[in-house]
Amino acid sequence: MMNLYDCAPEYIRAIHPYQPGKPISELAREIGLDERSIVKLASNENPLGMSPLALDAMIHTLHDVARYPDGNGFELKQTLSKLYAVNTDQIILGNGSNDVLDLAARIFLKPGLSAVYSQHAFAVYPLVTQAIGAKGLAVPARDFGHDLPAMLDAITPETRIVFIASPNNPTGTLSGTDELSHFMAHVPKDVLVVLDEAYYEYLPVTQRGDSISWLKQFPNLVITRTFSKIYGLAGVRVGFGLAHPDVANLMNRIRQPFNVSSLGLTGALAALQDNEFVQRSYALNRAGMLQLTDGFRKLGVEYIPSHGNFVSFRVEGDASHTRHIYQNLLLQGVIVRPLDIYDMPHHLRVTIGLESENQKFLKSLENALGESA
Ligand SMILES: *Cc1c(COP(=O)(O)O)cnc(C)c1O
Repeated sequence: MMNLYDCAPEYIRAIHPYQPGKPISELAREIGLDERSIVKLASNENPLGMSPLALDAMIHTLHDVARYPDGNGFELKQTLSKLYAVNTDQIILGNGSNDVLDLAARIFLKPGLSAVYSQHAFAVYPLVTQAIGAKGLAVPARDFGHDLPAMLDAITPETRIVFIASPNNPTGTLSGTDELSHFMAHVPKDVLVVLDEAYYEYLPVTQRGDSISWLKQFPNLVITRTFSKIYGLAGVRVGFGLAHPDVANLMNRIRQPFNVSSLGLTGALAALQDNEFVQRSYALNRAGMLQLTDGFRKLGVEYIPSHGNFVSFRVEGDASHTRHIYQNLLLQGVIVRPLDIYDMPHHLRVTIGLESENQKFLKSLENALGESA
């Protein structure tokens, strides 16, 4: 008789577990530091926390959590519909935008079919593809960014999804609007393009493409956005997709009936009302980006120019040296993200924090590089 583990399909057993950023509590236990002295810049979270309006709304909702959430997310969809000038039947709410990526894979992929994505792209694309038993086609990056013409060429008759992240995590690269619209115009109509815009709100207005207006023209487009980043609600898990009503309909059929919690629904709704908080988060990120890139230049550290709320930088020497610097930063109470699983073993990714956190990171990096020189 086979044991139970071996009964799981081979493609499931082959999955490497996703490695999240190290939690503050775990590092505090490991090195005996006070949690308050630890700086976590490992998961692209908002260093300002969340909007006070969202906090108030969720505290209010806490009294009601004995009840199931509104499974249709009526109010949140109404608000998103006005904000983005789409119909409510074009919106899919998700338990984080990761949920929407997973729904896309579960609807359009199966063993024998494939998804195309870029080398160094967000780790969830290979994960959801593999979980279905479909094949992932990773296309070599160009200067760490998506090579969209090569991704077009990589599409085969078996391809049903292309995942594009713009800005991409962990490289911070942005695909130009012209390049993206050219891609949409040439991609086969039976291939779903998932355009993941988790960091859209961090772009200056002049760099924001109007991808949502493309939905009218391209029924094979899904745009995903999230409340986890600039809105500061990563812990309650809310994201959404915008798509053609037919695609949204399929997604709404297979999602879990209550995939977004009541706290998530009210928190997200309130977060959308707080422009002041979003503006403050945006401004802090711009200033922090300058602070970090300035610091890297002074230290002679090479970094990949980023359009997100994080920067990936290169540690000279072999990959074991990069691990060493990562560990050294941990011992100094600074958590960043190693990028081995992104095929970037020489890089580390740092999230932009508060001014004092960025400063602590830069000082710790200087120490680490100095000690190992
Ligand atoms: C952080 C991130 C997301 C957001 O995930 P959620 O499930 O919404 O928290 C999506 N895509 C990319 C590329 C990200 O970096």
